[in-house]
Amino acid sequence: MNEPEFFQQGERLGVLTTQPLDRVLDYRAPEGGCFRGAFVEVPLGPRKVLGVVWGRGAGDFEASKLRAVIRVLDVAPMREEMRAFLTKAADYTLTPLPQMLRLATRAPGLSDPPSMRKVLRLGEGAPDRMTDARQKVLAVMEEFGGLAFTPKELADMAGVTASVVKGLVKQGALREEEAPRDLPYPPLNPDLPSKDLTEDQATAARALDRAVHSGRYGTTLLKGVTGSGKTEVYLEAVASALRKGRQALVLLPEIALTAEFLKRVEARFGATPAEWHSGATMTERRRVWKMVGQGKAQLVIGARSALFLPYRDLGLIIVDEEHDTSYKQEDGVLYNARDMSVLRAAMCSAQVVLASATPSLETWANADNGKYTRLNLTSRFGTSVLPEMRAIDMRDEDLPTGTWISPKLKQAMTLRIERGEQSLLFLNRRGFAPLTICRACGAQVACDNCDARMVEHRFMKRLMCHQCGDTKPVPEACPTCEVEGKMAPVGPGIERLGEEAAALFPEARIAVLSSDLFGSARALKQRIEEIAAGEADIILGTQLVAKGHNFPLLTLVGVIDADLGLQGSDLRAGERTFQLMRQVAGRAGRAERPGEALLQSFQPEHPVIRAILSGDEEEFWRAEAEQRRIAGVPPYGRMAGIILSGTDLAQVFDLGNALARNNRPLIDINAMLYGPAPAPIARVRGRHRVRMLIKAEKGAPLQDAIARWIKPFRMKGDLRLSVDIDPQNFF
Ligand code: ADP
Ligand code: ZN
Repeated sequence: MNEPEFFQQGERLGVLTTQPLDRVLDYRAPEGGCFRGAFVEVPLGPRKVLGVVWGRGAGDFEASKLRAVIRVLDVAPMREEMRAFLTKAADYTLTPLPQMLRLATRAPGLSDPPSMRKVLRLGEGAPDRMTDARQKVLAVMEEFGGLAFTPKELADMAGVTASVVKGLVKQGALREEEAPRDLPYPPLNPDLPSKDLTEDQATAARALDRAVHSGRYGTTLLKGVTGSGKTEVYLEAVASALRKGRQALVLLPEIALTAEFLKRVEARFGATPAEWHSGATMTERRRVWKMVGQGKAQLVIGARSALFLPYRDLGLIIVDEEHDTSYKQEDGVLYNARDMSVLRAAMCSAQVVLASATPSLETWANADNGKYTRLNLTSRFGTSVLPEMRAIDMRDEDLPTGTWISPKLKQAMTLRIERGEQSLLFLNRRGFAPLTICRACGAQVACDNCDARMVEHRFMKRLMCHQCGDTKPVPEACPTCEVEGKMAPVGPGIERLGEEAAALFPEARIAVLSSDLFGSARALKQRIEEIAAGEADIILGTQLVAKGHNFPLLTLVGVIDADLGLQGSDLRAGERTFQLMRQVAGRAGRAERPGEALLQSFQPEHPVIRAILSGDEEEFWRAEAEQRRIAGVPPYGRMAGIILSGTDLAQVFDLGNALARNNRPLIDINAMLYGPAPAPIARVRGRHRVRMLIKAEKGAPLQDAIARWIKPFRMKGDLRLSVDIDPQNFF
């Protein structure tokens, strides 16, 4: 690649800042000059802000008033390929560039001078006596002679406790030294022995190795049932990238980023990789950001925004559980990390591996039409087999009101308790009860700020709105008719199911897993690990248990309401239910014991339920694909959602109507416009929401048309317009 353009001191250049301005600002190059791509600090009014030297200045700003760049930051400059990626991602999602830049600089203190911290090196002294643990520490130091480690890293790498390391410092065998805080990550060794792969796995790993070694862009769907060894296979692809001297990124749904997973990676490569997620400390984030840029972090394990780190040479992106809806960011920049991975990889000649047991229809279709390569792992590793799946026809079951666990399901649970195995009951509903109703007048308790019902959370002893998070106490008297003592919960939530299970199995240890019952992600992960170790007989969980946890003792999964996801009018309702049920069922029988999954349903003859039970996935996808093709919807057509919001309903609708009347740019590309109509949740946090939907043909230049369409409209008052390309949710 060519050297980037250089600006001599005093020359006019353009800086893209992270501030919400719709253009690049002109400055004078600082003393010593700077390259295009340099991260800089520039004055903006009275403030100093972060920016990137974007190119030559536009020149329309008076030269005499031009201010100088304050300084060039001591971080790796933005590479051309990153700039191209941000530009394309901005165009694709219709996001202003400064907002993209903000996403790409989400580490604090990038402009601070490097701070120092204590690290350890080999010292002169010898320990008074040599123990195994001490020997391990010294062996690590010798192996990586030239490097310094923090006490914690050293202890982790040697597999000893912190006190062993402390002891060696006291005796002078290790010496403390001040070093810049942002240290390189310990090197990973791709040549440590891997597990012996099965034939299936080895074939897949070889194909990925060839792909990585091609040095070209490509995307592969790695499809395999839960437990088939997808992780083992893609870790070999990571090894291939590391051997080639390129960096690798493993994206996981946030909740799947567990200590268990990191330990597996460490076991394979001999050291811990860089981690990037919402739980990481600020200093850790900065370290990752800087070291990734210098190529001194070879592997990043991260949540979706890790895609926007400034890799020096990214050769491989793994998107694990690629169908997971949390890859779509639903606020701020509306992007889908899965799709952006493909874009990013195309920019830097990298390979993408999309791993899933139940791929999204988009990915399935891309593999079907040959755009993506497809690799299959067909069986579970070892003796473990897929659970047997059956429906419980709820029309035949006799249940007292206010209970949801059918006699058949109860019987299956009893059997597990007798055998010392675990059961999981799945219900995708947080809280105690979805409705609180007055038995005297029939009124329901609704949120004051939103068009949504309040959900009782008995654990908090309050009602809560799942839209805005507002809470209030459960009223004694009905807010509508004022009759006292008649307010009653209606319907099941996960907490209520917990009470029912406790009543049915008073001796059993019961664990309720719902995101809102834990103060922090860490506490939740801790609990999950305890449960995996056997500290519960019955687990009750919402959606979050579907994601990648390994419970070896689990042999029964009971789905309380398999029909729940099928009720919406959502385009992806069938697909989502199918994925979720298969994923949940996949939790059972992961170790040696075979599993069973029972789906409670009032409509077991529904095509989606039948497809889930029959296990004929290809048939399900083909049928689903055919329906979408006929309807001309994604992936066979394009869609964009427009959400208008504001505190004044009339104003919001006026804007919607004006947009609908002036839709020439959409007509030009043959796109259909639906709405304005109230969004399914028509008011959130006191703001009215109105929705419009655009449907276009597959090849249509949708973003360009939308950009031209909305450009003339000015947002008066507190009106907001946001564009959601490829919407996943229709709320
Ligand atoms: P997936 O990612 O498809 O759910 P994993 O890679 O997590 O599957 O594999 C499931 C379990 O089986 C893990 O505990 C893994 O270590 C083990 N396993 C898979 N393949 C092998 C193998 N070839 N040798 C030894 N253990 C394996
Ligand atoms: Zn609310």
